[in-house]
This record gives sequence, C-alpha cells and structure tokens, in this order.
Amino acid sequence: MTGILIVAEVDAGELRPDFRELMTVARAMSATVPGGIAIALVGAKLEAATRQAARIGADSLHVIDDHRLADPWPEAHAAALIQLCGELSPKMVIAPRTILGAEMAARLAVHCRWQLVQDVTQIEATPDGGLKCLRPVSGGAVAATVRAGAGPWVVVPRPRAFTPDETDTGSVVVAPVRHAFEPPVLATVCEAPKRIAVEGIGIDRAQTVIAGGGGLGGPGPFGLLREIADLLGGAVGASRVAVDSGWVQASLQVGLTGKTIAPDLYIAVGISGAIQHLIGCSSAQVIVAINSDASAPIFGIANYGVVGDWNEVMPAFRDALAGHAS
Ligand SMILES: Cc1cc2nc3c(=O)[nH]c(=O)nc-3n(C[C@H](O)[C@H](O)[C@H](O)COP(=O)(O)OP(=O)(O)OC[C@H]3O[C@@H](n4cnc5c(N)ncnc54)[C@H](O)[C@@H]3O)c2cc1C
Repeated sequence: MTGILIVAEVDAGELRPDFRELMTVARAMSATVPGGIAIALVGAKLEAATRQAARIGADSLHVIDDHRLADPWPEAHAAALIQLCGELSPKMVIAPRTILGAEMAARLAVHCRWQLVQDVTQIEATPDGGLKCLRPVSGGAVAATVRAGAGPWVVVPRPRAFTPDETDTGSVVVAPVRHAFEPPVLATVCEAPKRIAVEGIGIDRAQTVIAGGGGLGGPGPFGLLREIADLLGGAVGASRVAVDSGWVQASLQVGLTGKTIAPDLYIAVGISGAIQHLIGCSSAQVIVAINSDASAPIFGIANYGVVGDWNEVMPAFRDALAGHAS
C-alpha cells in the first residue's frame, strides 16, 4: 500500500512549479501517514516531466503516458488517476488546485467514496486517526476548521498556502513505474480542443497581478493595465464583469468562477470587491485598490487604497514606473 500519492500536473511538458507546495504537504504528513510518498504523472509526452519528477526525492514514481491524455480533459485524466489509485491504494492523495487537478480530485473522491478536503491552508493528523484542516471561506474572512475521519483522503491545498519544498535529492533517481492506460467508456469526450494563447505570464503564476473590472468601462483600458503589468513583470487579471462583457478572455477571471490566485501584489482597478471576486484574490500578500467609490467593499480587504478615478491614477502610475525603469 502507498502512503501518500501526489498528483503532479504537467504544463508545456514540465512539472508545474506548484508541485513543490504539494511536496511540502506530503513531507509534513508522511510522519503520520506511513507507506512513503509516491508521485503520479498522468498525461501525454511526459518524458521531460518524468525525468524531473524522478529526482524530486519521492519514494516512487508512477506514470501513465498515453496519447489519449494529451488534452487536459478532466474525465479522462480522472479515469487514469482512479485506475492508478486502484493499483496503489494510497491513504492520501494530494492534488493541485488547478482547474484540472481540482476536478480530478473531486471525481476521484466521489468514485472511491473517499473524503475530500478542498482549498486547505493548514493540515494536521488528529489522535483519532483523522485529519484536521483549515480552509478559508467567505472570501478569506473566516477560516473554517474541517475535520475528516479515517482516510483515505483526497486533499487539495490552496495555492501559495504552503512554502514550496525545494529539497530535491538530485543525486537519487527513482525509476519510473509505467502503467498502461485502460480507459473506461467515458460519458464525455474532448473534441477539437482549442488552445487559447495567454499573453504574457498566466495570472496563477505571476507574483504581481493587476486586474481590471467594470469600472474600466470597456476593453481599451486593459491596454494600459498590460503596460503596467509589463513594467512590473506581472500579469493582467479581470473581474467577471469584464469577462462577461467580452472585454478580456475568460482565462483572466479572478474569483469564485474564475481562478484563485495568491500573488505577492494584487492591484484591483475599478473592481467593487464583490465576495465572489474576493474569494479569488484574498490570499494575495498585499492588495491595492483603486476605486472612485470610497464605500466600495474592496477597501475592506485592501492594504492600500486610492479613492479616485483610474483615468487619473493609472496613467500617472504607469509614467512613474516607466520613469523608474528607464
Ligand atoms: C455564482 C456567481 C459567481 C461569480 N463569480 C465571480 C468571479 O469569479 N469573479 C468576479 O469578479 N465576479 C464573480 N461574480 C460576479 C460578482 O458578484 C460581481 O458582480 C462582480 O465581481 C463585479 O465586478 P466589478 O466589481 O468589476 O464590476 P462592478 O460591480 O460594475 O463595479 C465596478 C466598480 O468600479 C468602480 N468604478 C467605476 N468607475 C470608476 C473609475 N472611473 N475609477 C475607479 N473606479 C471606478 C465602481 O465604484 C465600482 O466599485 C459572480 C457572481 C455569481 C452570482
């Protein structure tokens, strides 16, 4: 039996960097969950990621590398993970809180009837053999304690809640165990997937995110936000209003139905601060809000705020940054 199985997501052929946060959780829990730490790699063309994962210091590495898993289709990837779990019987599965990872986790938990804890910021074993976890609710205003009984558990840590584990063994290389993919009949298939090019760095990776909302009034001002993001080496994000209005692509949306991010710096421009938006950004280290309405809820969570019209504030900010950069 395997102790802890980490689901390592692969992006553009490489392990996603947030994999190291999952490793931190695994190493912390390995004292109370015996059986070692295993890594699961599921996808297609995984040669480079397999070489990377083999040096990370896990006890075993399990790979399902199959062309039918080339697209990030959750049902197919979950089927592969369910198959692996059937073979390995892990006590705990740790998956990333990405669109694919969170859905694989949910499908695995439902299929196996295992206990699922999502969006975990703290985790510890309890004397009765269960788990005690913290997870933020109400946009991060409240930390809820979630107790899970005896495992198996499926744990999805909140991005950036755990310090990345950088202690690769390097010299110790684990030989990958390759598993053939035996897909069940899937209820849904992915046909003709379209990759949407993201300009610059993605919001879930950026240390700085500057996001625009309904207050920008149209797509044009996002060009100014892009200029500022480039000067800061960051990414552009958006509220749902901006996405639903067709001003920017959906991959930029922050919030309940968008992405949950935790950058070092989050700058919200013309964003009211609705709870569904705050859920996605409240873990940022520093939040700066620019809003013409002093009573906008975003100021309730912001570390720094400017009550003012973005038309005046943001060009001046851009010019100051550009002057600093030149
Ligand atoms: C189930 C559900 C899921 C949702 N998921 C999400 C989600 O994932 N992400 C999300 O963002 N929302 C989500 N929403 C929508 C959310 O409730 C809000 O409607 C949305 O966040 C509002 O976006 P906004 O603040 O950009 O726009 P608005 O509500 O239009 O607010 C615009 C803000 O800009 C300010 N402003 C106006 N002009 C200026 C100016 N010239 N200079 C400076 N400030 C100005 C205004 O004072 C105001 O505060 C969801 C809603 C539901 C019901």
